[in-house]
Amino acid sequence: MANPHSFNVVVLPGDGIGPEVMEPCLDLLRAASDRVGGFSLTFETYSAGAETYRDTGAALPDATLEAARNADAILLGAMGLPHIRYPDGTEIAPQIDLRGLLGLYAGVRPARKVKGIASPLASPQADTVDFVLIRESTEGLFASHHKGEVEDDAIARETMVITRPTSERLFDFSFKLAERRKTAGAPGMVTCVDKANVFAAFAFFRRIFDETARRYPDIDAEHAYVDATALNMVRHPWDFDVMVTENMFGDILSDLAAGLIGGLGMAPSADIGDDHAVFQPCHGTAPDIAGHSLANPSAMFLSAAMMLDWLGERHFVEACGGAAQMIHDAVDTAFADGSMVPCEMGGRAGTKDIADAVLNGV
Ligand code: ATP
Repeated sequence: MANPHSFNVVVLPGDGIGPEVMEPCLDLLRAASDRVGGFSLTFETYSAGAETYRDTGAALPDATLEAARNADAILLGAMGLPHIRYPDGTEIAPQIDLRGLLGLYAGVRPARKVKGIASPLASPQADTVDFVLIRESTEGLFASHHKGEVEDDAIARETMVITRPTSERLFDFSFKLAERRKTAGAPGMVTCVDKANVFAAFAFFRRIFDETARRYPDIDAEHAYVDATALNMVRHPWDFDVMVTENMFGDILSDLAAGLIGGLGMAPSADIGDDHAVFQPCHGTAPDIAGHSLANPSAMFLSAAMMLDWLGERHFVEACGGAAQMIHDAVDTAFADGSMVPCEMGGRAGTKDIADAVLNGV
């Protein structure tokens, strides 16, 4: 009899290091689900990305989009290559289109420091960094994606959009996440990051945040300007719990967050909507190292763990959460004594070294 908790995962390896980190990730998911039992995963791989665009003329073919819509979850490597572009000069980024097409408004970017990974912060508190940045992922300045215009080679325009329905769902998502984290010992605080002192759109964003905050009296709500936040993320990042912000600000701050925990190769992410979710590392296709087996697959592994957590919560399958924890623990153990230093941090550990060490732990 088929496993009642069988999940169909659509896999989009993409370009550059995407397929390189995806392959060991699928091995890890198979191993963790076999070990834990109680649920099963089937993987269906589809093409999308810059090379797909070059070869077929479509960056996100209809069959891929259709499969993504019907999947229980979508696992994505990375997409886009600098030498393959649309006629307007922009890069191929179907992962951005997917966010709009599937309504994935909450870009969840956890920044949890793994012990044994070097941090650029000198403070001994660096090891306690553990916050989640929520980046709105369907509107903000990115609402202008594919719509920007350059007039007479003299003036360019892009327009930021903030809407009430998306902001309300985004803030609800953020407060609910803070509630869940609080039960596990986090402070229970959401920080709205904006530029409400200068832009009407951000004053509106903040007003909706305050309205939402009133419905969560057990969670502290605070505001911060994006520039001050960049400073404070470097000075005392351990003070943040859940941060929520607009798409472009989130794009920038999530790279800063990745830097604080050792690099993009350690930073997972998820783009979550009400009906669908895409799990992918924060990093791009890293064309500078692609093809050399130098990519750190940890961010991909931790994104897969987020997928298991999300599936488990959504379908009430506790075993999925167990497998997610197993992956987290295996990543932590692999790096714990500090001897395995990823190439990205100046060390010698490449994709296979890290993948083998993590796989060993499940
Ligand atoms: P995007 O705009 O799509 O996010 P990007 O070009 O800004 O992409 P990345 O492709 O993420 O950025 O690469 C930025 C730098 O980080 C590169 O030097 C790359 O080699 C490095 N890098 C990114 N991901 C990894 C990884 N998993 N392992 C090692 N190095 C990585």
